[in-house]
Amino acid sequence: MSITYLSSLDIANKTVLIREDLNVPIKDGIITSDVRLQASLPTIKACLDKGAGVIVCSHLGRPTEGEYDDKYSLAPIAKYLADKLGVNVAFSTDYLQNGVSVKAGEVVLLENVRFNVGEKKNSSELSKKYADLCDVFVMDAFGTAHRAQASTEGVIRACVADGKMVCAGNLLSAELDALSKALDNPAKPVLSIVGGSKVSTKLDVLNSLATICDSILVGGGIANTFLVASGKNVGASLYESDLVQTAKDIMTKTKILLPTHVVVADKGEIDFEDFLGSLEKANAVIKSVDEIGENDMILDIAPDSAKELGEYIKSAKTILFNGPVGVFEVDKFGQGTKVICEAVADGTGFSIAGGGDTLSAIDKYKVADRIDYLSTGGGAFLEFVEGKPLPAIVALQSV
Ligand code: AMP
Repeated sequence: MSITYLSSLDIANKTVLIREDLNVPIKDGIITSDVRLQASLPTIKACLDKGAGVIVCSHLGRPTEGEYDDKYSLAPIAKYLADKLGVNVAFSTDYLQNGVSVKAGEVVLLENVRFNVGEKKNSSELSKKYADLCDVFVMDAFGTAHRAQASTEGVIRACVADGKMVCAGNLLSAELDALSKALDNPAKPVLSIVGGSKVSTKLDVLNSLATICDSILVGGGIANTFLVASGKNVGASLYESDLVQTAKDIMTKTKILLPTHVVVADKGEIDFEDFLGSLEKANAVIKSVDEIGENDMILDIAPDSAKELGEYIKSAKTILFNGPVGVFEVDKFGQGTKVICEAVADGTGFSIAGGGDTLSAIDKYKVADRIDYLSTGGGAFLEFVEGKPLPAIVALQSV
């Protein structure tokens, strides 16, 4: 079933409620990264341009439901939105008790939905209260589309039950289009880059990718488990012994690209209580994967090895990128991730990247504008790639 897009609806003089993902880092009241806020602006602007009165809601962090906590208030974001939209943005904390009054061309931001009891459990009572605020509901929060909560899935069902219009906003539409382009009938060869710390958190995604990709380049702690599966010794590196057989099975389904050389540090130099701090002081040594000693911890792909792997990336027609291939937070263990990011940017294939650490790395190595699509979703991105139905998308499709 298809989804209705905001672009096809006449919403003049209607009150729209937009669910955005405004979950950004805020320190001492200052927004430290506005990537998600920027991504939400086109939908809010589109609703204003179409002559609607606009209510925006979102979660922020993980507060305890029913308990107000200043740290998780969306108040600083009202100021940001007012500045970027050039309109006054009112902030409402009593919307569940007193409703919201908004005229065409006005914007009201609601306080953090996760302060509301029943949000996470997808309470139908709370969902109905959200639905009662609007004539039209616009789902735009791809980053939370994999969670069935009152402000994501429940509100859609409540609106539909009341005969109200529901649709996907511009950001959600763009995410779905980009992911469909990469996953349904993708241009071949298809290559995925899967990095990060653990196989266990990416097992489902690796299994799904093995069926659609011509090759998977594994990096980070994940590569270590695959190195063991291919008979190498990884010394003191992070790896998961119980998943070695799983890694072997995946290797029978698709071509797994592994580094020939890696960057290691001596375990004795690492303080696990202050992992990144100790790595700043540790010696970074390049070694062949055939020469790893008992005290060596593999922390990156060596730059030359990453360049060789980069050639596969450059010749791929579709590239999916999730997870750094090393501890990129520390520069001396970040060169492999840098080379991989640059290869993705230089490649002529359609490239799509998602996940918090991946976007931070892309930002750090300044290649964001040369990657075709940057997904705002972390968990939602992975679940979509795994082929799992995302509850909020399913609800939009069931209209
Ligand atoms: P994830 O949250 O699973 O995507 O993992 C991201 C984290 O994995 C980043 O903070 C990296 O520093 C870390 N990481 C990457 N490579 C390694 C490695 N070889 N050993 C330990 N941690 C790693």
